[in-house]
Amino acid sequence: MPQVSRSAARRGGPDPAPYRLVARRGSAEWSDPATTRVVRVGGVAVGGERPVVVAGPCAVESREQTLAVARAVRDAGADMLRGGAYKPRTSPYDFQGLGRAGLEILAEARDETGLPIVTEVLDPRLVEETCAFADCLQIGARNMQNFPLLTEAGRSGKPVLLKRHWAATLSEWLCAAEYVAATGNLDVILCERGIRTFSHGEYNRNTLDLNVVPALRRETFLPVVVDPSHGTGVAYLVPPACAAAIGAGAHGLLIEVIEENLACPESLCDGTQSIRPSALAEVVRRARLTALQASECPTP
Ligand code: PEP
Ligand code: MN
Repeated sequence: MPQVSRSAARRGGPDPAPYRLVARRGSAEWSDPATTRVVRVGGVAVGGERPVVVAGPCAVESREQTLAVARAVRDAGADMLRGGAYKPRTSPYDFQGLGRAGLEILAEARDETGLPIVTEVLDPRLVEETCAFADCLQIGARNMQNFPLLTEAGRSGKPVLLKRHWAATLSEWLCAAEYVAATGNLDVILCERGIRTFSHGEYNRNTLDLNVVPALRRETFLPVVVDPSHGTGVAYLVPPACAAAIGAGAHGLLIEVIEENLACPESLCDGTQSIRPSALAEVVRRARLTALQASECPTP
């Protein structure tokens, strides 16, 4: 006998799947696990064979810093520029971002480098303003279950990069994606950014959950990227974690970067987990090589 919950029994049928628009299960179009929906951000395709690299500062701290990092990440081979204008900080006394001025700086960086912009939207009331500058709306880990924000971001029609909360199950994360999809917007990119485990603060900030990459690829047709910056919290761990993420089947990487010659890596936000452009260039080179080798030797 199939299990029928009390509420389902009242309706006279089995419980519906908690997410269905983003699931492979039940989809004629996406039942083949080798297929992925390609999400286009500016001119960049996320979800294809070529791994996409989104790189930039944690936060837009100044015009000079952002333009310098934007040029450096372009030269390192990245495809898109990231950077927070509105920052969700754990402490209210930490730098909260430059707000609209930060968005204007990002737009200037895009004009100069040609890199599409990924930036976080913090609040449903900021969706319209952020959309005027961004190519892709990032929804941060802390807001993964902010349902009004998911709906408003979905309605904007912009691609949405949805980060996983550090304590969210795969199902909770896909239900969050379903809120965006339910608005008719299927341009969702999932971003694993580390979960909290017992090693928090010992040698890392978070534990990068790479198991979830193949698990997601089995469960959904949405593209999956990995953020090893927040996923490890320590700059020297980022390059090996990037290689592992691509090896696990991620469609791309989201990486925090600081200026090459910044004397003190303590930038206003997440300096200790940010890598230098020279390290980024090596990460990009290795990611593209790994993906190329994998496409030449597909798993039987
Ligand atoms: C970020 O990308 O800068 C960020 C705040 O990430 P998360 O939401 O994953 O903590
Ligand atoms: Mn950050």
